Amino acid sequence: MNQYEDLSARFGTPLYVYDLDEVAAARKELLDALPEEFELFYALKANPHPEIVRALREPGDARSCRAEISSTGELAAALEAGFSGDEILYTGPGKTAGELSEAIGLGVRMFSAESETDVQHIGRTADAHGVVADCLLRVNSATASATTSIRMTGAPSQFGFESETLGEVMPRLRRISGVHLAGLHFFPLSNAKDEASLIAEFTHTIALAAQLQQELELPLRFVDIGGGFSVPYATPGRRASYPGLRDALAAALDEHFPAWREGTPRFACESGRYLVGASGALVAGVSNVKVSRGRKFVILDAGINTFGGMSGLGRLLPVTVELDDTRAVDRASLVGPLCTPGDMLGREIKVPELGPGDTVVVPNAGAYGPTASLLMFLGRPAPAEVMLRGGEVVSASRIEHRRTPLSGSAHG
Ligand SMILES: *Cc1c(COP(=O)(O)O)cnc(C)c1O
Repeated sequence: MNQYEDLSARFGTPLYVYDLDEVAAARKELLDALPEEFELFYALKANPHPEIVRALREPGDARSCRAEISSTGELAAALEAGFSGDEILYTGPGKTAGELSEAIGLGVRMFSAESETDVQHIGRTADAHGVVADCLLRVNSATASATTSIRMTGAPSQFGFESETLGEVMPRLRRISGVHLAGLHFFPLSNAKDEASLIAEFTHTIALAAQLQQELELPLRFVDIGGGFSVPYATPGRRASYPGLRDALAAALDEHFPAWREGTPRFACESGRYLVGASGALVAGVSNVKVSRGRKFVILDAGINTFGGMSGLGRLLPVTVELDDTRAVDRASLVGPLCTPGDMLGREIKVPELGPGDTVVVPNAGAYGPTASLLMFLGRPAPAEVMLRGGEVVSASRIEHRRTPLSGSAHG
């Protein structure tokens, strides 16, 4: 029995198996690829499991990450994993008054602000708590350099201030009390296709940050230049490596921010998928195998309710799973158990000989797994999630949904 079969016999399927040593390895690899002065935010949306988050915080042989969150649920996960409020960056275009109050009350002091009213709301809440919050103005750049799979700038968007009109709103932003306009936040791309595109995008971002600092007379204390670090999603393969990134970033910063090594300003990158993608595998059980008009369908106990409900976030095409299985002898469509033809994990992919009771293992499923899936759809239980360290199980758990009566309801 291999380890996945052993674990699925113990915990059932569908089952996520995460290796915390792999999370630690990814953190070290990415931090080593960046200049040592850089900070690195972990975007919890890729996987908010508290033990994954803790593995990215706890000092080992690498520096610690900080936490980037966008909801009170992620805030709770970050705090549970041991982060303190001052290690957290709160982002997102729709922060509500309630969320802001909770975050500031729990010590969060750095926010990425995405609109004028967002800055007002942050300032108002900070004032009410008698504190000043640092705002990074998120910038939606008018121009971009790399070709990428997910692009978030250069077009009309709910994200960020347009770089070309930021100058017009600056006087109004400066009058808002309760906030300190501490810096800029960029997140122009996700999952860059190669190192050259990533470097081109970062170089562009650094030049734009310098230009905005000068034009807006905004002394920057902190600049988050975004991410785009890539790892295969549910297909075999390794994390990308970035041998030239460190020197390329240093060169661009030497040119545009001569005091960056002294921390003026401080720089950060952010990542979700790269840090956790390779740490996880999804083990699914085969319920049925059937042939329909000459095509084979392998029906699993895991579908888009378990994996890839959002298709890896922003990929609007269906998820395309590939198995890392050298026994592959056949082609079949891997489908889930849900009553919708959209429950397709991989169409006509290579598979081994499979029958009811067998298991398949989807590799590189540690990012955008349960958290980005349609967990509630069709009422199946959430998958079990098992954490390994040193090859040993350190925890096993499952998310539970339950309906709770609200006190304002008729019978509450
Ligand atoms: C989603 C998101 C990330 C993480 O993206 P990955 O592609 O998983 O690295 C980072 N920053 C922001 C602002 C995001 O919205």
